Amino acid sequence: MRTLENLQMDGGCLVFDFVNTVNTRRPAPEIEYLQTFEDLLVWSAKLGSVGGEKLRALREYAAQNPDDALAVLQDVIEAREMLYELFSSIAAGNVPGNAVIHAFNRRLSLAFQRIHIKFGPASAEFDLGGDDVFPGEPLLPVLKSAFDIATNQDFRRIKECPRCGWLFLDSTKNGKRKWCDMNVCGSREKSLEYYYRKTKARHTL
Ligand SMILES: [Zn+2]
Repeated sequence: MRTLENLQMDGGCLVFDFVNTVNTRRPAPEIEYLQTFEDLLVWSAKLGSVGGEKLRALREYAAQNPDDALAVLQDVIEAREMLYELFSSIAAGNVPGNAVIHAFNRRLSLAFQRIHIKFGPASAEFDLGGDDVFPGEPLLPVLKSAFDIATNQDFRRIKECPRCGWLFLDSTKNGKRKWCDMNVCGSREKSLEYYYRKTKARHTL
């Protein structure tokens, strides 16, 4: 059975792993992994993007405010679909539409209000700061990752699996990776090609 625990995390970056919490997107979304706010927390803990004391505080918040937690989850899912639209356009070699660019910028500016940089003697690190419980916190590292990818990544490395619609970063040397996973979508495509070739051959006899 497909569960959050065994969900593959092979998007190559936090934002793509987040967008890939729908399995699969093509021809139509099949499985929604983020059914509850708790699912979002489990996913964040698995990726290490939210942990420790904050995770405990967010669980307590959700237990005490179930309706609010559900509204936050719906907003997080809306953000995820926006991110899919944005990076799917990029993967197709297009400039994203104005509406999605606007939505992305609006979410980034809200997220950056809560992001701090902590400086040490030799390096600096990303910090979400504050001890207050902010239920939208699981989305902040995702938006930061989306910002990093959009500003630093070579767009030719941003890809979408043509069979299932998963997003991934192509880190192969030659940049020719086509499938999310050769054993899943790649092999399925190969066996279909074989089937069609055989059928066609039979029809032309
Ligand atoms: Zn795939």
